[in-house]
Amino acid sequence: MRRWPDHAPFGRWASASMPELPALPEVEVFGGDPVNRISHCERGNMSRPGAILGGVLLGTCLAFSPDAIATEPMNRLGLPVDCEPGRDCFVQQMPDTEPGPGLSDPLCGLASYDGHDGWDIRLRTLADIAQNVPVVAVARGLVLRRRDGVPDRLSDRNSSKTALKGRECGNGVIVRHEDGLVSQYCHLKMGSIAVQPGMMVERGERLGAIGASGLAEFPHVHLSIHREDERIEPLTGQSLNRRTPDCGDLTGSLFTNLARDQLARTPLAILKIGLTEAPPALDELVLGEPPAIATSASNAMIAWVWAINVEAGDRFKIHIVRPDGSLLVEHTSEPLARRKANYIAYAGHKRSAMPGSYTVSVKMLRDNTSFISETRTFKVTEPRGVVSMPGAFR
Ligand SMILES: [Zn+2]
Repeated sequence: MRRWPDHAPFGRWASASMPELPALPEVEVFGGDPVNRISHCERGNMSRPGAILGGVLLGTCLAFSPDAIATEPMNRLGLPVDCEPGRDCFVQQMPDTEPGPGLSDPLCGLASYDGHDGWDIRLRTLADIAQNVPVVAVARGLVLRRRDGVPDRLSDRNSSKTALKGRECGNGVIVRHEDGLVSQYCHLKMGSIAVQPGMMVERGERLGAIGASGLAEFPHVHLSIHREDERIEPLTGQSLNRRTPDCGDLTGSLFTNLARDQLARTPLAILKIGLTEAPPALDELVLGEPPAIATSASNAMIAWVWAINVEAGDRFKIHIVRPDGSLLVEHTSEPLARRKANYIAYAGHKRSAMPGSYTVSVKMLRDNTSFISETRTFKVTEPRGVVSMPGAFR
C-alpha cells in the first residue's frame, strides 16, 4: 500500500483507509508565464482632451443544448460544477497538452500555462463565493481524501508560493472512480467540504463549493484527472505524460456529450461591463469591488469591459448612448497585439454628464465580425443616491 504524502501543517488531508491508492500528487503546482495566466490588464493612455481611449476585453455566453445523456455510459464524466459555463461560471484555463516547454490547450488554443494539468472553472469575483456554487463529483466514486480549513484568499503566485507550500491545492477532495480514474478538486471554499473519506458519491453529487483557498489568483475549482501515475486530459481523453496529444480531437473524450460540448466552446467571455468616472483596476474587479457608477458630478464617463481569454487581433467596440438616445461615445480599439488571459478595454468622455439612463454596449470583434456582445443601462444620478439598473444581456 502506498502512503499519501501529507506535509500540510494546517488543514490536513483526511484519508480513507484504502488499499492500492494511486500515486496522485497532493498539490497543485502553478508554473509558467504569468503574463499569459491571469493577472494582467492593459490600458491605453488617457490622453486626448474630451476623449479617452483604451484597452481591451471580452466574454462569452454559452447556451445549453439538450443532450442524450441517458444513452451514454455511466462512467462518462460530468462537469465538476453545478453552474452554467459562460453565464454563471467560466473556463479560465485548461490543461497544457504540450509535455515540453511549449503550450497548447486541448482546443489548440493557448488558454493554459506551461505544466498546468487541470481545468480551472472560475467565478467572476471573490465576493461571488458567497453564492456557494457547488463543486460536484464528475462521476460515481469513492471519496479517498479531503482537506478543509484553508482560508479563501487571493494569492500571488510569486509571493504566496512559499507560504502555501504543501497547501497549494487549498481545500480539496479526491475521488476514485470505478474504472480506475481519480479526480481531484482544488481551491474549494473553506468550510464547504460536504464529504468524508470512505463515502460513495454519485455523478453530480455536491462535494463542496467553489472558493479561492490555496494558491489561487482568482476564485475557481481546479479539476485534474489521473489514472495511476498518468495525468489525463479529460476533454481529449489523452495522456498528459507522454507524447504531444492531438489537440482538437475529442473523439476519445471522457466527458458526457453535454459536458464535452460545454467545455469545447470558446473560453472567451465578457465578465463585466461598467460606467464609471475612471477605468477599474483588475484586482478591484476580481475582488468584487468595482468602482462606483459615475454621477453627474463626475468629471469623466468611462465605459469599460472586463473580458477573459482574448486573442491577438481581437478588438472592442464600445458605445455610450445618452438618455436622449444620442451617441456620446463610439470607439473601436486597435487589434490586440497578443493574447490576454484578462483584459480591460475602455472608452470615455472627459466631461461631466447630465443625470439620466445611459446605455453602454460592447462588442468584441474577431475577424471584423461581432463575436460576443453585452449591453447594460446605468442610471447616472446626482452624487447622492446613485442607482444601478439591472442590465439586459446579449
Ligand atoms: Zn488550475
